[in-house]
Amino acid sequence: MADYIYTMEIRLTPDQLKGVGLVQDVTRAAGMNLYLTGGAIRDIISGFTIRDLDFTVQGNPLKLQKDFEKAGAKITAVEEDVRTIFLSLPGNARAEVSMARTERFEKTGKPPIVMPATIHEDLRRRDFTINAMALSLNEGSRGLLLDPFNGVADLEAKVIRILQNYSFLEDPSRLIRATRFAARFHWPLEERTQARYDAAKEGKYIDHILRSSIGHEIAALAHEDDPLNVVKMLEKEGWLTVLHDHWTVAKVDANGLSTLMKTRQQMVDLGYTPDAGPAVMYFLTSHFSDKDVADIQKLIPRKDLVEAWRDIEDHAKELSKRLMGKEAATPSRTWQLLSSARPEMVLFLAVTAKQQSVEQKIKNYLTKWRQVQQKLPLPEMTELLITPQLPIYPKLANDVFMLLLDGKLRSRTETLKFLKPFAPPPPPPPPAPRRGRAAKVAAEAAAATAAAQAAKPGPKGKKGKAAAVAPTPVAPPAPAKPEPKSKSAEKSKPAPKAPPKPALKTSPKNSSKGSAKKKKK
Ligand code: ATP
Repeated sequence: MADYIYTMEIRLTPDQLKGVGLVQDVTRAAGMNLYLTGGAIRDIISGFTIRDLDFTVQGNPLKLQKDFEKAGAKITAVEEDVRTIFLSLPGNARAEVSMARTERFEKTGKPPIVMPATIHEDLRRRDFTINAMALSLNEGSRGLLLDPFNGVADLEAKVIRILQNYSFLEDPSRLIRATRFAARFHWPLEERTQARYDAAKEGKYIDHILRSSIGHEIAALAHEDDPLNVVKMLEKEGWLTVLHDHWTVAKVDANGLSTLMKTRQQMVDLGYTPDAGPAVMYFLTSHFSDKDVADIQKLIPRKDLVEAWRDIEDHAKELSKRLMGKEAATPSRTWQLLSSARPEMVLFLAVTAKQQSVEQKIKNYLTKWRQVQQKLPLPEMTELLITPQLPIYPKLANDVFMLLLDGKLRSRTETLKFLKPFAPPPPPPPPAPRRGRAAKVAAEAAAATAAAQAAKPGPKGKKGKAAAVAPTPVAPPAPAKPEPKSKSAEKSKPAPKAPPKPALKTSPKNSSKGSAKKKKK
């Protein structure tokens, strides 16, 4: 049987995994059963990017808003009617927590009647089999996959299948969703689903779509990996004008969008997690009038997305101005400025910068300057005992990197000359082995001490403590992410000499090996 918890743990990003822990802690404390559901399960099993976490609880999650905030999540939207809260979890991970519910559609074009339900009933109201699975995160059944419609089989067969014949009639937004998933995964609709889809299209069911569903579908575009392809498919199927009467592919800045997605991937490869959503919306609607953009924004339920989209140009201008000013006069200062800026702003400005100097600085930040990091003489630094175990290591490695960036250290020799004064003294040599009569006397003395200690019971655990301070092997140096120093390693090392001040401008005056000032020249 597949171990879905293991699959979840290896497929989620560290931030998403922490988010699962956070939601689990809050719901467990409230005594609510929790399931990971919908698209998150689909993407975990199929290997696609997991864009957000969909949770379902048996109970009302609206009651947990304060608890989520206390635990470090931000509430970005609330939908009272379906009792759903949208969360922004630490590290840009997005989540929604919904109440397990049934939806009864009584009249076409009217919102359904929502009732609290069990998770099994909830799965029956979903759109497609691949989205109708739930993974239990509860003690006792943790790891159990609920898959009443055999979604796993449809994932394997790579088809999109509705759960029942009236699916598109009940909620016509599923027509748009079907097209969006088909475009994203490049999967066909299952035969009967296709027939129902065609009939729904002909019968103009889409005229009954709810306004709130339009907002959801617009917001969903912001998080597509290839939004242009999705928008093209929506246009072909006639759904783009459902989202807004004036929307056509011609309204999209296709070049900007394509550069944005490439730059985003480049940043992801470097370890950043920029939320490209607001920038994607900006390019998808580039050739709209301000009024049309404002109308679209009004429909979107996630206010955080709307605010970020509204502010994106102003924030980019601000960053651009700073990049042209004194604050970014040198490569090292530019590096510091860009490192402290929000990754989404760096991403947006990388694509929209009007000034060549700004464009070049961001380009250097994302490419050329990173190679300078490779110039840290790591093997020699290890020989000098300048390793991540040293408390000053992160600062020192950063200082050297900054000097290298600014061309103030131009060679390996110069770099080593700068580093040497910061090297800790070597550990004392081990005591020389005793020989002959002296060894015999020492052995007898040791045996006597051991016997005396065995006769006198000391406090428990003392021996264990002594063992714990045995020297630990030195980890290989890793300048980007130094390991935290372990307590045992700290204790086992000889007391370091007074650490020289690692600030660049202050030379390690207490070192007899020379001044940094002299070496910087
Ligand atoms: P994405 O990868 O685009 O986020 P998703 O499947 O997670 O896709 P959401 O819009 O986040 O889609 O919705 C979460 C889940 O809620 C879906 O997987 C599906 O089970 C259910 N759902 C969403 N919209 C509908 C709908 N219109 N009808 C039925 N179920 C829906």
